[in-house]
Amino acid sequence: MTETIAFTADSLTFDVLSPATGAVVGTFPSHTADDVAATVERARSAAVWWAGLSFAQRAKGLARWRSEIVRGTDELVELINSEMGKPVSDAKLELAMALEHLAWGGKNAAKVLGPRSVPSSLLTINQAASVEFPPLGVVGVIGPWNYPVFTPLSSLSFALAAGNAVVFKPSEFTPGVGAWLVAAFQRAVPEHPVLQVVTGGAETGAALCRSGVDKIGFTGSTATGKKVMAACSESLTPVLMECGGKDALIVDADADIEAAADAAVWGGLSNAGQTCLAVERVYVHEAVYDAFVTEVVKRAKAIRAGTDNGSKIGPITMPSQVDVILRHVTDALERGGRALIGGLDTIDRQFVQPTILVDVPEDSLAVTEETFGPTLTVAKVADMDEAIDRVNASRYGLGATVFSRARGVEIARRLRVGGVAINAFVAYATIPSLPLGGVGQSGFGRVHGPEGLKEFTYAKAISRQRFPSPLALTTFARTERTDAIAGALVKLLHGRN
Ligand code: NAD
Repeated sequence: MTETIAFTADSLTFDVLSPATGAVVGTFPSHTADDVAATVERARSAAVWWAGLSFAQRAKGLARWRSEIVRGTDELVELINSEMGKPVSDAKLELAMALEHLAWGGKNAAKVLGPRSVPSSLLTINQAASVEFPPLGVVGVIGPWNYPVFTPLSSLSFALAAGNAVVFKPSEFTPGVGAWLVAAFQRAVPEHPVLQVVTGGAETGAALCRSGVDKIGFTGSTATGKKVMAACSESLTPVLMECGGKDALIVDADADIEAAADAAVWGGLSNAGQTCLAVERVYVHEAVYDAFVTEVVKRAKAIRAGTDNGSKIGPITMPSQVDVILRHVTDALERGGRALIGGLDTIDRQFVQPTILVDVPEDSLAVTEETFGPTLTVAKVADMDEAIDRVNASRYGLGATVFSRARGVEIARRLRVGGVAINAFVAYATIPSLPLGGVGQSGFGRVHGPEGLKEFTYAKAISRQRFPSPLALTTFARTERTDAIAGALVKLLHGRN
């Protein structure tokens, strides 16, 4: 598919290449800073119109967008497949998850963000108090390519449900998917350009950061996140940072080993390991280590990277990522690790076969850095305390998975990560009412759930005096008697502990 977004500026273009074949599958403009500024300008007036609608009216628009996406599923999944290589059936799964969150955002915005009365205090008893969450205005969303629908939609749909206009810069690897989503929204809400797309690489993204938007919702690597923050700091533009991870799966001695192995293989290898929440490291109780490794290897042997019907995973999307994977696997093997399946010989152009590594030192790249390929390191631990320490030793803190019959919740609470799934892989990311996000180098802020809606608003406090205070404190007419009563009250309220 070759689709060019019409644009007035004489911007250069860039090609999108199929990661499977290298063929050109699309050509798009590299939007300049002027293009971005003009887009944000148009968004300003659209934002006023959109914010002026009721929550219910916006929810209707978002519901129509959902239907447009469902109607266009076949076209959209083909586009995902051609631009980033994900198998079509996995692309359908991605769409299904994204639609759940889109629906939740639209339906719950009024309840989460609408005006709400809150209690006043004894000293402010004459005031009625309420809080509400107005939209910020125009939000810029910068997205990655690995889940080109699910990931940006998390920010897009929540920013829109909260009443913002949005300018979206999809990854330069998946601009067609981004443009498709925006075109679908514009069919659903044709009145004003409430959601627009700009395409291009780092320079277009940086221009969006400097365009005066009221917030940037960024999802991508930690390294780029730091550049986005630096650019946004120039204008004190707030940022939401959804960055990289090095998620672990923990297997306790009493775990269901088959289920844990299945989750490790799916969590580590699906989407060719190109998932921010992918299982990249596994820590297994020594009592079940051998049985677990046997199960993992058995399952992983059935998975092959390719493009034919029998292959369950596709190519590595970014050519440069193959070098990262090679470097991590080489480092692991040179430092005493062993590849039980896969390894260096099984990497062919952008196709990386499943690689299960054991005996890898904890300070090697395959354990400390995001690999973003279909690789797993599996390590033996003496007990769950050691497993928890090793998980928490990472500078990342996105998510984790725990397999344990008796101690799942206890272990989950001790992990320093944004989300934990017990006895299933990343279930928390698919439950619409739960927030998603990380700590440490995985970022900050949240998408999904009530926290995700509030992320694209500001808290506004309103107080209304119902009657004059019997204890007038904030006036120069305050008397000594008032001071004495206030002093006694303060002692009574706060001084008795
Ligand atoms: P990336 O950091 O290379 O690019 C992300 C986006 O930032 C792209 O749109 C890119 O064009 C843009 N960009 C690049 N340089 C920029 C700059 N200087 N200023 C502004 N924008 C700039 O990431 P990627 O390779 O597209 O995505 C993979 C990464 O995303 C992985 O690290 C993965 O873990 C992470 N990710 C995180 C989550 C999450 O929820 N935490 C979800 C999906 C992906």
